[in-house]
Amino acid sequence: MAESTSSPVFDAQKVTVVYVLGGPGAGKGTQCSKLVDAFGFCHLSAGDLLREEQNREGSEYGEMIRTYIREGTIVPSHVTMKLLENAMTGEMKKKTGDGWVDGKGRFLIDGFPRKLDQAIGFDETVCLASLVIFFNTSEDVMLQRLLERAKTSGREDDNVETIRKRFRTYNEQTMPVIEHYRTLNKVAEIDSTAAVEEVYRAACATVTNLFS
Ligand code: ADP
Ligand code: AMP
Repeated sequence: MAESTSSPVFDAQKVTVVYVLGGPGAGKGTQCSKLVDAFGFCHLSAGDLLREEQNREGSEYGEMIRTYIREGTIVPSHVTMKLLENAMTGEMKKKTGDGWVDGKGRFLIDGFPRKLDQAIGFDETVCLASLVIFFNTSEDVMLQRLLERAKTSGREDDNVETIRKRFRTYNEQTMPVIEHYRTLNKVAEIDSTAAVEEVYRAACATVTNLFS
């Protein structure tokens, strides 16, 4: 088969993509929100984009997305990747300020890639990622955090049965993604068991290192 010769939509020399991975409830979203303010990132959460599309009137994917999220499984990659690419294109047009001049940009892509085909597909066709921040803690800690979050999140998947399925999906499909990037020396692993501020200090050090 002929090798693809097309280049990614975004040039990684100008656009910095940092993938943020970790199990459900590891604290990805919490840390991303804090890093946005400190480093001028645009934070794109794959889960948030999917929930938005699920609720968008007239979406041809709404019902399908709902079913996958309820089952704690991975929504087909072409849908998630397209939502991310569209969101990046939109942000590149409208964002300004530090890190966003002369065609430059910096993205924290949270909860993505959750599966090897997404990792390889996105790196090759959308933008080659510079780094993977991997927030790691135990299932017990994640379960407790998610049950606490469930009191206010209104999320259909923050219940014990779906959380167990999400853990399984994460172990079977997402851990191989982390291993893939480990072989490329792109993983910065951070223990996210500690308090938010302590985890944040480690995350800040990692990002400072990336931009130095
Ligand atoms: P994720 O995006 O990885 O699913 P969240 O950032 O939504 O996880 O965090 C899950 C829940 O745990 C949230 O209610 C959040 O407030 C809480 N949380 C996040 N980080 C910590 C932490 N380091 N210590 C205690 N609770 C945390
Ligand atoms: P999250 O908001 O990251 O906890 O994700 C919630 C759910 O959205 C997951 O359990 C999946 O069903 C779906 N999802 C999130 N990210 C992805 C992704 N990268 N690819 C496919 N499905 C995803």
